[in-house]
Amino acid sequence: MSSTPITHIVLFKYKSNITWSDFQHHFHEFSALQEKCLHPSTNAPYMLSLRMGQNNSWEPYSKGMTHGFVLEFVSQADLDYYLFEDPVHRAFSEKALPLIEDSVVVDIKDAVLCGLKPEKPVAGVRMGLYRGSCHCGELNWEVRSKERIKHVLCHCDTCKKLGGAPYSCNFIVPREDLAITKGQPGIYTYKGASGKNVRCFFCSTCTSHIYHHQDAMSDKVIVRTLLLDCGNDLDAGGEIFPEGKLKWADALREALNAPVAPVSIQKKAVNGVNGANSV
Ligand SMILES: [Zn+2]
Ligand SMILES: [Zn+2]
Repeated sequence: MSSTPITHIVLFKYKSNITWSDFQHHFHEFSALQEKCLHPSTNAPYMLSLRMGQNNSWEPYSKGMTHGFVLEFVSQADLDYYLFEDPVHRAFSEKALPLIEDSVVVDIKDAVLCGLKPEKPVAGVRMGLYRGSCHCGELNWEVRSKERIKHVLCHCDTCKKLGGAPYSCNFIVPREDLAITKGQPGIYTYKGASGKNVRCFFCSTCTSHIYHHQDAMSDKVIVRTLLLDCGNDLDAGGEIFPEGKLKWADALREALNAPVAPVSIQKKAVNGVNGANSV
């Protein structure tokens, strides 16, 4: 995450049937965001500036946009917080949405003319804090990661045996960045490939495996990423022990990505493979 200030430019085309009093109220609430939106770390306003006004251009290039808003934030992280998490902004957006017919949004960093775009934040992940839970809910935990967490698929035989699945999904974090916030996990210890002990921490009630700790890598823990609340929204970031990959794993991926014409067959395939919420 960069700390280069970022300018969030929003153009709106409002619906034609809005009353003037609705407009006044909306603009008043919009301008109040600069003071009312508070940073979760400092509890102080964090929007550096907010300018707004009606389109005053006589050129015929406004594409119907009637008003412009220019907001400045100290970093992409602050803008992400504003867009995805800030309860004041979210409440404002919910009320504003019915007034808006169309919009244009562009974010710029002063003098930055090329480069990669930031990734869309993962819903529910706030300031690098990921929450996880086991199936029965007796265990809760939190993982802090400055780096965006991605599933690293492990195809080793131990993961297949422990999980009863074609592979496990993991991410390695420093040991101190994992905190159990509810419950007490059970521990299963076995000898890893290094000959040193590996401890699997799991829920003693529902058996969900939540993380591993290896003596061969004692300052780190391996978190099972599909048990994070946002697990379904995270991307895959890599694979390890590819030699253990089941020979149909890639074929299955290709089959699922291939277009399937009849809707009934597609439904059957999705239900049969994902079994979403079925068990
Ligand atoms: Zn449980
Ligand atoms: Zn494994």
